Amino acid sequence: MKEYLVKPKKDFSLKKFDAGDTSLAKDGESAAKKELKDLRKKLIKLQQVLYAENKHKLLIVLQAMDSGGKDGTIRSIFKGVNPQGVKVASFKVPTELELSHDYLWRIHSKVPAKGEIVIFNRSHYEDVLVVRVHELVPQEIWMKRYQQINAFERLLVQEGTTILKFFLYISKDEQKRRFMERIEDPEKQWKFNPNDIEERQYWDAYMGAYQDVLEKTSTPQAPWYVIPANHNWYRDLVISRIIVSRLKELKMAYPQPVENIEQYLEILNKS
Ligand code: AMP
Ligand code: MG
Repeated sequence: MKEYLVKPKKDFSLKKFDAGDTSLAKDGESAAKKELKDLRKKLIKLQQVLYAENKHKLLIVLQAMDSGGKDGTIRSIFKGVNPQGVKVASFKVPTELELSHDYLWRIHSKVPAKGEIVIFNRSHYEDVLVVRVHELVPQEIWMKRYQQINAFERLLVQEGTTILKFFLYISKDEQKRRFMERIEDPEKQWKFNPNDIEERQYWDAYMGAYQDVLEKTSTPQAPWYVIPANHNWYRDLVISRIIVSRLKELKMAYPQPVENIEQYLEILNKS
């Protein structure tokens, strides 16, 4: 999946990515869906070991423009995974209490513990995205945050967390299509928020802010991936492949059973 990895310290340009790309699914959509099913089975097994071993922590960060597919990704990829041990943390407009602390306070309290997978639906990156685009804090404040975020994530990694960050990249046209669908489909109308139309006018400013996020905060220990996300099936396939392959690298194993476990069979037999 090197294709979509944002390589640290290399010239990076978001413009070089194509939101409609499907080039790593050579055999098309239906083959991709079969592969996704297979990847889900693998993820279910890997999560079981992660939970049982109670050693590693996995943090998945999802960022996207409105209608970019964060909810759908979570639903699709984690289908069938044991909800015990997987948590989703969604970050909305900060409350007064949250705003009275530093911006990482609410984030730090939600990171995974040993044996857990946590998915961030939005994250601390909002503090250099929406906050920057709308100048919710002065530039001299948000400018320092890239380094602070890198330091924060380094701490998490040094303490045993595996971090994967995904930017679900849709095109502006695709966003329009999705908003129209939300307006027209009675089952999707609940998702429609007039504020999304307002935000859409800041598309270019957001792309500039994402460009900086990806360039400044993709590190070897906490890499960013730009996921072509115009096609849901392709987005799910690529993200699943990355998660499964990263979890395999952890070489996890079930803990050793208690000593002489067989003796308990005899005891049970006699009972
Ligand atoms: P949604 O994810 O669609 O429910 O919307 C959540 C909203 O909260 C989005 O418009 C985000 O931009 C906004 N949001 C999340 N984090 C922050 C933050 N730190 N500061 C300001 N707005 C935020
Ligand atoms: Mg929204």
